[in-house]
Order: sequence, then C-alpha cells, then structure tokens
Amino acid sequence: MIKSKELIAENLTRGTGGELLLAGVSVCAMAKKYGTPLYLYDEDRIRERCRTYRYAMGDAFGEGGFQVHYASKAASFKRIYEIMREENMGIDVVSVGEIYTAMRAGFDLDRAVFHSNNKTDADIEFAIENGVGTFVVDGREELLCIDRIAKEMGKDGQVRVLLRLTPGIDPHTYEAVATGRVDSKFGAAIATGQAMELTELALSLSGVVLQGFHCHIGSMVFDSQVYLDSASVMLEFVAEVNERHHFMAKILDLGGGYGVRYIESQPEIDIAENIREVGAHIHAECDRLGIPCPIIAMEPGRSIVADAALTVYTVGSVKHIRGYKSYVSVDGGMTDNPRFALYRSPYTVTTVEREVGENAFPCSVVGRCCESGDILQENVMMPEDICRGELIACLTTGAYNYSMASNYNRIPRPPVVMLSGGEDYLAVRRETPADVSALDV
Ligand code: PLP
Repeated sequence: MIKSKELIAENLTRGTGGELLLAGVSVCAMAKKYGTPLYLYDEDRIRERCRTYRYAMGDAFGEGGFQVHYASKAASFKRIYEIMREENMGIDVVSVGEIYTAMRAGFDLDRAVFHSNNKTDADIEFAIENGVGTFVVDGREELLCIDRIAKEMGKDGQVRVLLRLTPGIDPHTYEAVATGRVDSKFGAAIATGQAMELTELALSLSGVVLQGFHCHIGSMVFDSQVYLDSASVMLEFVAEVNERHHFMAKILDLGGGYGVRYIESQPEIDIAENIREVGAHIHAECDRLGIPCPIIAMEPGRSIVADAALTVYTVGSVKHIRGYKSYVSVDGGMTDNPRFALYRSPYTVTTVEREVGENAFPCSVVGRCCESGDILQENVMMPEDICRGELIACLTTGAYNYSMASNYNRIPRPPVVMLSGGEDYLAVRRETPADVSALDV
C-alpha cells in the first residue's frame, strides 16, 4: 500500500494501481455497490477517537472525574448513537429530532446534555418527559421556563442544569464558529455580570438543580492556549460563586472545538497530549484558587467523526472556459456539503480510481444545484483527461456534512455506509424522490 502525500488522514491509502482505500476498503467498490453520491464512514476510526478522549480524560481527571459527550450535531443518525452507547460516551443534543433519534438507538438519555440557545416550551417538555439528564441553559427566560415546566410536570427539584457562560475568550478561529466571546448569541457573559445574575437566579429556583457551568469557545480551534485561558476564567468564576454563595459547582463543561486537518497545511492535533496539558492546568488552577476540582466535561463533535469519512461523487461534466477557468461538476454539491458555500471551508478533493498525477489542471469542483454558489472546493488539481463517469472524493467529510445536508432543488440525500473490520453496511439508506415529496399533503 502506498501512503500518498495528498491523503491527509491515517485511514486513507492508495492501492498498487493508485485506487483510493478507506480503512483498507476500495472506495470504488463501495461506489459501485451503493451508487454516488455516497457518504462512506470508517466506524473503527470513530471508535478509536471516542477512546482517545475517554482514556485521556480518565488519565487527567480519574475515574468518575470526567464526562465526554459526543456533540451529535456533527453527525446525527441512529447508528452513531448506537456506537456512542457502545463506547460509553455521553451525548450533546440540540433538538427534539436528535433526542428522538438517540432514543431510537436505545441511548440512555440520562447521559444526554440538551443545548440550544432557544429551546421551545415543547422542546423542554419533550426532553423532561423522556428523561434527558441535563439542560445547558442559555439565559434567564429559558431558566425560568424550565423551572416552571419542571414544576408543572411534577419534577420539582429534579431537572439538572448547567449554565452556559461566555468566558470572553477569542478562539482565533473562523468568525462563523467563534462562540465564546462576550458578543455572542450563546450564553451569559461573565464580564458583564450577567453570568453571576443567572447563577443567583438558578440558585433561588426550586424546580431546577444547578450542577455547574458550561462554555464552548468555538470550533476548529488549534491553539491549545485558548483552552487553558478559558479553563482559568471559568474556574475563577466557579471559585467566586463558591465564595459568595457557598455553592461549589459539581460539573465544569468546557465544550468541544478541537480542529481537524482538512488540508495538508493544517496541523494534526494530538488530542491526548492537549487533554494532558489542560488537565495539569486545571489541577494547578484549582489548587491556586483553593477549590476542589469539579467533574470536567468535554463535548467533541468534529474531532470524533470528521476524518472518519469521505464523500464519493461521479463527475458529470468538465468545462474549460478558454482564458478563464475550469469547472468539474459532480452529482452532489451544497446539498450534501454546504460548508464551502456557507463559510468557504477548505477540503481536499482527489480522484478515486487513480492518483491525480503530474498532468493536472486547476479547477473548481461544483455541484448540481441551480446556484452559482454551489461550490464544493476551488483550486482543485484534477487529471487532464478527467471526464464524465470518473469518481472523485471529498475527504474529511464526516462532520457537519450529512447533518447539514438539505433537499434544496428537491435533491434526495445520499446514503451513509459504514465500514467496520473490512466489512461494509448501510447505516442510512439513500433518499428517493418519493421521500423528498413524502410530506406534501
Ligand atoms: N458544544 C457546543 C455547545 C457546540 O456548539 C459545538 C459546535 O458547534 C460543539 C460542542 C462541538 O464542537 P466541535 O464539533 O468543533 O468539536
């Protein structure tokens, strides 16, 4: 097997003829069997990532001293929740749809944390009724609402809550995924005093039980200092609440956000090493502040699933506009991966049946929607003789692709196929035109 330099994840290799392999399985064979576009996931990689987090958190905080919740917005379908259950992970959910899917997978909802900056009354009732373990509360109205509904449902004093706070840290990441700054639609700011006011309100209510605090500074964070800084700010707040109100937080949830490598120029993060560093820092900070170390929670999403998957497409047309540029159109696009269209996310796009080779030209790989912005990636190198029918793959599409997919132009969504121990199986079937029209009355 050849390790080709354009392949950015460990589970990707090329066979002797140059064909692309994911977890040792021929991507071309999978495309022939299931059709394209196709999301292809390496289940073993997902499990390995869950264990990396759990073992590193265990080493840093001890048995019972940590929680790892998979942020299921990254990729949400029944099989993922089954894998999370089997891997002893908690989950982060943000909607009734995610809760319902997790229930179908037999996930113990006591291990779920419910996010969202605007949970409706119906969401809150559904979550309480079905035993969601913890609510991450975004603000005052929501806190009062959860308290009222808990009482109305006879769950007085039984609904556990964390308060989402903004520590005022700039994560140095993309604007669209930065959430921990003071100016954010999420959470209550420590700097403005609103975090303390929310805490005082939570402590005064009898319907909810305050467990601690939460923050999520952003996504695609590569700078480990950002986590150390936000942990310090959050622990100082914990210590202040303890001093003022004699309430010692049981849980401190530091959110998700570790970056992944989409293109060669991005670094590969050593997650275990990062967690070791954060762990040592948290223990030192707790000693300095004279407080016991709370249970430390994390909510990784992208770094659990992103490099476990790729998306396979079939080329439909190749267009060279003389004196301008070239376009390669594929049978998917922004409907299965809207991330370039949304925030110009970089991806590595390559050929499946052979290596790209030396005789290549730069092009934009575009989708099939009636939308000029329907671009998967720009400045991609493709072989000179590429033509209709050739397979290409967009790598590292395991996170925020299937979960962000849409039916724009009434395009049915691709299936999700999983690979495990060299075997393949269908986790989500391909949508049909009838599925797309199923809700029309
Ligand atoms: N937790 C919260 C509250 C989030 O908003 C997100 C992502 O948006 C995550 C966790 C997961 O982040 P990531 O996928 O970058 O690990």
